[in-house]
Amino acid sequence: MADDRDLLVKWDRDHLWHPFTQMQGFGKEELLIITLGEGVYLYDQEGRRYLDGVASLWCNVHGHRRAELDEAVAAQLKQVAHSTLLGLAHPPAIRLARRLAEIAPPGLTRVFFSDDGSTAVEAALKMAFQYWVNRGRPEKRRFLKLSGGYHGDTLGAVAVGGISLFHETYRPLLFPTLEAPAPYCYRCRDREDCREQCLTRLEELVAAHRGELAAVILEPVMQGAAGMIPQPPGYLARVREVTGEHGVLLIADEVATGFGRTGRMFACQHEGVSPDLMCLAKGITGGYLPLAATLATDEVYGAFLGDYTEFKTFFHGHTFTGNPLAAAAGLASLEIFEKDKVLAGLGGKMELLTRELAAMAPHPHVGDVRQRGMMVGIELVMDKGTREPFPVARRTGHRVVLAARKLGAILRPLGDTIVLMPPLGISLEELKSLCRITLEAIGRGTEPGSG
Ligand SMILES: *Cc1c(COP(=O)(O)O)cnc(C)c1O
Repeated sequence: MADDRDLLVKWDRDHLWHPFTQMQGFGKEELLIITLGEGVYLYDQEGRRYLDGVASLWCNVHGHRRAELDEAVAAQLKQVAHSTLLGLAHPPAIRLARRLAEIAPPGLTRVFFSDDGSTAVEAALKMAFQYWVNRGRPEKRRFLKLSGGYHGDTLGAVAVGGISLFHETYRPLLFPTLEAPAPYCYRCRDREDCREQCLTRLEELVAAHRGELAAVILEPVMQGAAGMIPQPPGYLARVREVTGEHGVLLIADEVATGFGRTGRMFACQHEGVSPDLMCLAKGITGGYLPLAATLATDEVYGAFLGDYTEFKTFFHGHTFTGNPLAAAAGLASLEIFEKDKVLAGLGGKMELLTRELAAMAPHPHVGDVRQRGMMVGIELVMDKGTREPFPVARRTGHRVVLAARKLGAILRPLGDTIVLMPPLGISLEELKSLCRITLEAIGRGTEPGSG
């Protein structure tokens, strides 16, 4: 095994370019190679066990190697591993489309499959644009996004992204957009009148540009990659109202928030909101396989109907769109939601999480603790009084993550915000343990000179 590890490390160094990773210097850090998963734990080659504190990048729902999911994928493998949805169908995609339409906010009846969150967003952007073309309003072609928004890494998704660190380099390649400030209460200068800061500007932009706006796109309730930044209650409902009043589509990107993360099946359901388009991915297969869906209303879908020669067709589709293995996992995951009453069972976990987070808040470097359901961001600051961040070069978030690893948990930060987003299937004991490790790691990672 040891030789095996040495070889794998060498081959990794020689050939594997890791995503969102500065490869210079990465080779000097110890490489963690995961070989096994079970429940909420991941294991490395030496058999060391780690709590999967970010659900393998926000996607695992019921834990690893869940028997029902394994069996569903294996059973489908005995039928067919892949067949296209271009002009054909297969049972898992048909059944999953129907189930998604059943559980989605009212009105979202049509399901367009793709493979990843980014592609679900690309499809939604193109649908919104072409909806207006097909309706004879081609001038409605602009998108309004939120600062700090994250919708994936393909160019369309980057164009509607609002994280300058990730997105600015590509600006020359992107279509222009309108941007409204997103709520970020911890760093808001105008805490007295937060409505003024957040909603009023968005309302003004939508009203002023209604004639040229195709859609508003946002992450409902909680902006994920921005640093787990929640919106004040009522914000989403008001955006829905405003877009409706001005004849602008609303695209809800539930790639991160979907499938129970915020305590409801979908974040939009906290505010009784039905968007015109909704993007799903990450948790859709329980985190097993790549699959995504863009849900649309009959109104949007209807605009694409016409004689063949009118060319109103949605000319879009990826090779592995709606892959049968992935769709089978998606169906099995939704069955577990029902059978285990997963959402009902979250109450106690969310409360425990709230209590554990409250215990972290007094730490001298914990600036802000943000929670919506099972999504958590812990923003670390150098100076709690002035809210001054740590120097970027110190890589405090990264230090905390390395410390957590030694303590038996895998985390991944967003800058100096520590993210907790465990599988929903985590037990109370495991959740408590994850929080204890996190607090200890924050202590170690923020110590002067630590690292
Ligand atoms: C992760 C994420 C995406 C991108 O999904 P990929 O599967 O990584 O392409 C899009 N939107 C949101 C809100 C996300 O969190």
